[in-house]
Amino acid sequence: MQASAPVLSRRHALALGAAGFAFGLKPARAADYQRSWTFGDVTVSRVVEMSAPYPADKAFPGAALEAFDENPWLVPHFYDPKVKGVIFTYQAWIVRTPKMVLLMDGGFGEAMPKERPGMTAESFLDNLKAAKVAPDQVNYAMNSHFHSDHIGWNTRRDGDKRVPMWGKARYLFDRTEVEFFAKAAAAGQPMGASFNVSIKPVIDAGVADLIDGDRDLGDGVRILALPGHTPGHHGVAIDSKGKRAVLCGDLFHSPIEIVHPEWDVVFDYDKNEGRKARNKFLDQYTDVDVTIFAAHFGGPTAGKIVSEKGGKRVFKTLVP
Ligand SMILES: [Zn+2]
Repeated sequence: MQASAPVLSRRHALALGAAGFAFGLKPARAADYQRSWTFGDVTVSRVVEMSAPYPADKAFPGAALEAFDENPWLVPHFYDPKVKGVIFTYQAWIVRTPKMVLLMDGGFGEAMPKERPGMTAESFLDNLKAAKVAPDQVNYAMNSHFHSDHIGWNTRRDGDKRVPMWGKARYLFDRTEVEFFAKAAAAGQPMGASFNVSIKPVIDAGVADLIDGDRDLGDGVRILALPGHTPGHHGVAIDSKGKRAVLCGDLFHSPIEIVHPEWDVVFDYDKNEGRKARNKFLDQYTDVDVTIFAAHFGGPTAGKIVSEKGGKRVFKTLVP
């Protein structure tokens, strides 16, 4: 998604606060859930930065939102009915093999928003440490796409400059994505601002390699072209000792789009391309033994796409 100040209305914020006070509820902390999964020789870990609800009517304008109530399995991890908010988690992904460490995405970074209603914030750097990765151990860094909530930790502040955060990594940037966002930056569009903070300094430091399409990194890890959400959007495919997983970035923002891939999501650069990409992905990965990680899915996070009687597709998390 593009992080354009998702703010709940005052009424929603009050409702959330009141409900929390009345029932002693707190948003579930990602720390309560599993953070590492193994597929053959490959381990996937998530490094959480924050979770927060985003108004469903703003994420999916014009959609028949009663679908959230018709799919109660979305509560509590993916939808908060009290505030009618889609729960988005912001996180980085570490893909480790015996030979390398790949880091995908990386939240807002040092530009993390100040507290939002219902937000659960964590220390990204503490969580990185807990995942047992030192910044200099990262061999490859890539971003599913260049929206500001995915590229923040590409760089860090060094005096008045920005420098690459992953000091020894080669950054694998999709060429189309670079061109698309460089153009936005040159035109002074808001999404260009984060390009100048989190992408350009990496290119200027000479540590970025431009890639076109897929890139096989060996050991059962492949960077996978999944255009749709943005023109150069990518995922990561894992296939090791017969165990398979796909990190599909922002192809889906909420599991509701697995039920309703035809919905328009406000964050897609081109609604037709987004829809086409979701349908293609669902045709490929429904009822197959592949674990799916979507960038913003929180709670138990990992799951599979399965079809129910009648053909309706849902997201089944590996643990409830
Ligand atoms: Zn996003």
